[in-house]
Amino acid sequence: MDAEIVQSRSFPARLRSAFGVIGGACRHAAKLALDIALPTLCVSCREPVEGEGVCAACWSKLSFIEPPYCPRLGIPFVYDPGTELLSMDAIANPPAYQRARAAVRYDEIARNLVHALKYHDRTDLAPAMGRWMARAGRELLDCADMLIPVPLHWRRAWHRRFNQSGALARAIERQSGVGLRGDVLRRVRPTEQQIGLSRPQRASNVQGAFEVSADMRGEIAGRRLVLIDDVLTSGATLDACARALLRAKVAQVDVLVFARVVDGPKAPI
Ligand SMILES: [Zn+2]
Repeated sequence: MDAEIVQSRSFPARLRSAFGVIGGACRHAAKLALDIALPTLCVSCREPVEGEGVCAACWSKLSFIEPPYCPRLGIPFVYDPGTELLSMDAIANPPAYQRARAAVRYDEIARNLVHALKYHDRTDLAPAMGRWMARAGRELLDCADMLIPVPLHWRRAWHRRFNQSGALARAIERQSGVGLRGDVLRRVRPTEQQIGLSRPQRASNVQGAFEVSADMRGEIAGRRLVLIDDVLTSGATLDACARALLRAKVAQVDVLVFARVVDGPKAPI
């Protein structure tokens, strides 16, 4: 009797779920048909593009960072002052991390790429962005033991469904062969968005926000790690991550990002 009731109750549910599957398949087929019918658009100028994210015209406008740059912070120099000279920033505000490198300057096209990846589920952009990052950070990756993506707080990760730093780190892992560990660093308290905050406000916003998982301490002690993030603005978030890792007796922390702000407050954040 109970079984009959269960069966009679579950029939509409089964029907709904069958329609759900059919509906899902139809939506999938419709999306597939659309993908075939509509070419991919450049994330920056919305012109049709073959293959990866940006069209040839926008790609040529991306401002790739090349030497000469500050050997510590990777800030580009306008002229070559010799290999050992540090930037004013590296002397005045030395961060906890050893070296930072970025693939591109944070300009409008870089921002479009970052926003598409971060807020519009364009995970298909990660392989190309990761490839440019692996190229920019080759000397860091050559002597690295692990890649550590900057973690999101679980609440933000839940809303956004994935961590953009993790997606970039996975692409770099494939390029470089350096293993990714997403479980080393945890964001133990949610932080305000850093946008619009001054440098000291940014530092205090992320102070104590990161922690190394207790069971990972043995695995990372004495290792050389590369922190991965999408954008470096003041470096406060990456500095807080590096401090947490160095407290756990890591030998060295370097930083590799997709884009870095070079012109300070004038950059279009
Ligand atoms: Zn374009």
